[in-house]
Amino acid sequence: MQKFSLETLSFDKTKERMKVLQEFSEEGYRELLLAFKRASYAFCSFDEINQYLVKGQPFIVLRHDIDISLRAALEIGRVEHEQGVRATYFITLHSPFYNALSRSNAEIILQLHHWGHQVALHVDHMVYGGDFTKALLEVNAFAQFYPYINTQLASLHSPTNLERMPIASFEQLQNVYGHVFSKDMTYISDSTGRWRYGHPLDSEAFLARKPIQLLTHPIWWIQEGETAIQKLKCWLYKDYLNSLTTAEAFLPKLFTFSNRRTTK
Ligand SMILES: [Zn+2]
Repeated sequence: MQKFSLETLSFDKTKERMKVLQEFSEEGYRELLLAFKRASYAFCSFDEINQYLVKGQPFIVLRHDIDISLRAALEIGRVEHEQGVRATYFITLHSPFYNALSRSNAEIILQLHHWGHQVALHVDHMVYGGDFTKALLEVNAFAQFYPYINTQLASLHSPTNLERMPIASFEQLQNVYGHVFSKDMTYISDSTGRWRYGHPLDSEAFLARKPIQLLTHPIWWIQEGETAIQKLKCWLYKDYLNSLTTAEAFLPKLFTFSNRRTTK
């Protein structure tokens, strides 16, 4: 097994790099939310977009696609709760890294719901060979486990060329992507752990106080690291260390009986 190198935890503290680190951190996320508040942006949910468009008031929709960990989602959800804002968490049934139905994750999802955040499905249509109809059947399956989820929304995992996807034919997808396609909203994302098209506060949309859909992935903000790859490695290593504790909770008999030495 390849040894994990803690070199990934030492960073080049040049000014520019420190700025990036501070930016993509829990504190950085808090600052980002504050900047939108100071600019009189309202934080609204996907269901409220039409009513905010009519009002003409600046607004932002916070969206999180959860690919790697619900524990990171909980941390970001707490920051938002403390700031009095709400987001929508899109959770997948197909992550190789977390089980959306495990007891501990069920508690996290319930906590997010109790904080007033919305929960919806993050769909991996490629599991179904690209068949959106089949993939979206998962929405109702997911709702059987979590009856409070928003069944009117779904986001897509790693869509290549979103513009060529049949978004408009599927209500849940249209509700998430429709306003971006119709250019009522500007879409800004931290996919791959950086702002590919510049910082949101430098965007034309923000400067003109136009509506924004901001997609962020909690892991990039919660885990320290110089690059997205380093953040991922550090996170997975911590998860590995966490696994034994998880095993003790999940297999209590194993730890109570089978490893106890019998003395004669
Ligand atoms: Zn995804």
